[in-house]
Amino acid sequence: MFDLTGKKAYVTGGAGGIGRAVSLGLAERGADVAIVDLAVDTARQVAEEVKAKGVDSFAIECDVTKEDQVQGMIKAIVGRWGRIDIAHNNAGICINEDAENMSYAQWKKVIDVNLSSIFLTCKEVGKVMIAQGKGSIINTASMSGHIVNFPQPQCSYNASKAGVILLTKSLAVEWVNKGVRVNCISPGYIGTAITQRACDAWKESWKQQIPIHRLGTPEELVSAIIYLASDESSYTTGCDVVVDGAFTCI
Ligand code: NAD
Repeated sequence: MFDLTGKKAYVTGGAGGIGRAVSLGLAERGADVAIVDLAVDTARQVAEEVKAKGVDSFAIECDVTKEDQVQGMIKAIVGRWGRIDIAHNNAGICINEDAENMSYAQWKKVIDVNLSSIFLTCKEVGKVMIAQGKGSIINTASMSGHIVNFPQPQCSYNASKAGVILLTKSLAVEWVNKGVRVNCISPGYIGTAITQRACDAWKESWKQQIPIHRLGTPEELVSAIIYLASDESSYTTGCDVVVDGAFTCI
């Protein structure tokens, strides 16, 4: 079960903490993985790590908020492998700013990177998967699409991730009879660059709030992605898999 041998995948934000772990996890199951990121030098390093697992990999420099670059990214993958079976749309940013001080430019930046990019990437890879009659899309949402984080202010992030969850469900229903499954994952606090930037007081507060009393690791998300990517999840679409140490239970 959960064999991905020969499947063609890409991961956006593949140079980041979660994207790197997922790319390596997909490769360990046999998938070829394209590493898509703005940070192309780090993406190249991840592609080398992925290739060391015995599969094909290459880095693509792409700003997922730019329609022409997203189209180019999809074209490059189809040009190399002829198809795309697994799409993990995962790039994201967070700006912690009080709502009354947040500029409109800051608001739009977060919505663009976290939400509008999901529309762009799903649209372009969706066309490929509909033509194939098969494919699995996994978007990275967040527990912040369900609850409001505290004490840090991040209204644009929370709104963007709530949008990702309902966009995922909308596309799942639109494409349910076209062979394309669309799901998302909602991680809780995970130890990556995004959370490492937080001040110690916030981190301490989070650990108190999380019922499991620790942050998750990127590796602890990988099995959920492998499930959604594999044919074993053939009846799972429009689903949001929450992996949060029980944060959203309280
Ligand atoms: P990260 O900062 O390590 O990785 C994010 C990656 O996205 C970086 O490599 C960055 O270069 C890339 N990126 C940013 N803007 C981009 C753009 N416009 N085009 C292409 N790439 C771009 O953070 P991470 O924790 O690995 O985050 C991955 C995803 O997980 C994000 O969507 C984030 O919101 C989500 N998430 C993270 C946590 C957490 O606690 N770490 C929790 C819930 C959800």
